[in-house]
Amino acid sequence: LQFYKRIEEREPEVNGFLTLCRDEALERARSIDQKRKKGEKLGRLAGVPVAIKDNISTDGMKTTCASRMLEDYIPPYDATVIKKLWDEDAIIIGKTNMDEFAMGSSNENSAFKVTSNPWDTKRVPGGSSGGSAAVVAAEMSVMSLGSDTGGSIRQPAAFCGVVGLKPTYGLVSRFGLIAFASSLDQIGPITRTVKDSAISLEVLQGHDPMDSTSYKGEASSYLESLEKGVKGLRMAVPKEFFHTKGLDPEIADSIRASIERYERLGAIVEEVSLPLMEESLAAYYLISSAEASSNLARFDGVRYGYRTKEYEKIEELMEKSRSEAFGKEVKRRIMMGTYALSSGYYDAYYNKAQKLRKIISLQYQEIFKDYDLIISPTTPILPFLKGEKTNDPLEMYLGDIYTININLAELPALSMPCGFSKEGLPIGLQLIGNHYSEATLLRAAHQLE
Ligand code: GLN
Repeated sequence: LQFYKRIEEREPEVNGFLTLCRDEALERARSIDQKRKKGEKLGRLAGVPVAIKDNISTDGMKTTCASRMLEDYIPPYDATVIKKLWDEDAIIIGKTNMDEFAMGSSNENSAFKVTSNPWDTKRVPGGSSGGSAAVVAAEMSVMSLGSDTGGSIRQPAAFCGVVGLKPTYGLVSRFGLIAFASSLDQIGPITRTVKDSAISLEVLQGHDPMDSTSYKGEASSYLESLEKGVKGLRMAVPKEFFHTKGLDPEIADSIRASIERYERLGAIVEEVSLPLMEESLAAYYLISSAEASSNLARFDGVRYGYRTKEYEKIEELMEKSRSEAFGKEVKRRIMMGTYALSSGYYDAYYNKAQKLRKIISLQYQEIFKDYDLIISPTTPILPFLKGEKTNDPLEMYLGDIYTININLAELPALSMPCGFSKEGLPIGLQLIGNHYSEATLLRAAHQLE
């Protein structure tokens, strides 16, 4: 497999993988070859190497969530998306690094290693699916899977100069994805081209009886409409996006240039207003932490995962196991979420955040009455240096300003490269569509490639 050669060359510098499964992958490649020789029908991803974020369950292969808590955990089943990849004859080459339990924006919260940005190894690849984005950017894999709760596919895709798609909530099954915030989480593909993203989504999507929130409608074809162009498409640019504090001028210029390209291609671009953008950041961090505090309650040292060595009572077992195995950021979210859900504070925080979530969704629906797509930057900042923001979680959270709204409103969005800074760092453009409008999203993105 030529990809393993590439991995040998690039991985020591990039550090994108937590587990590599070379022997299994080679075995798999051989069996696909046999199938081909016998003239059997091959799947749509026959022989395509795929890397998987380490919070997606893989039967017989470690799935750690980059946490000491699950350091030795080997799931006894495959996530639905993994089954779909196998069915299409893809080859899983390894599991990728991430922020612990998908909480973070830089991969620096991994308990095991920090992945580097392949464009400049002193910088972070973004997060939490930083490993998945970095290995695709460094050409160690053709595609990868990530998960996106508040931007974790799109932000690392922007930082690494690749294409990251967060589908409409429910389009892709979450069965087997280790939950962070169940009402926001979605699995999606990271690829080098929009066309690859379209093929991947065709494979990944579809109703799954194992996920009660999964979409029951017809599966769409995305490749078919890819070349249709953007003539007459109505695109909205929320003016607040350009007034964000801390928006890098080089990013703003690059997005403006993309808007002009769309206009030249025949799209109609107009300015709209999307107030409450900053408030929604607070709503996201409250809701996601509240859900995380409940989802992560299962890691108690009793049923599975890390267990402390010495203890007397069961309470001590749970307390010590959790204190020893969870990292700083995970503990911070659990505390924040438990506080927001506790009686006496519930109405002031959690309930208020839910109301804001509803208002944000309605504001987007207002825009989609008149427009097909919304254009924005993916992030306000360029890939930053490792260690630059580790001591200031609030500043790290502010970097999610353009991506978190989309999860709150359950919309699909895609990040694609739209230029480089003077220093040669990639810049990401975000396209946002209405529910289940991935075909339009991919078709518009393809026009800028
Ligand atoms: N950076 C965001 C957070 O830390 C998004 C994470 C994600 O989408 N998984 O919560």
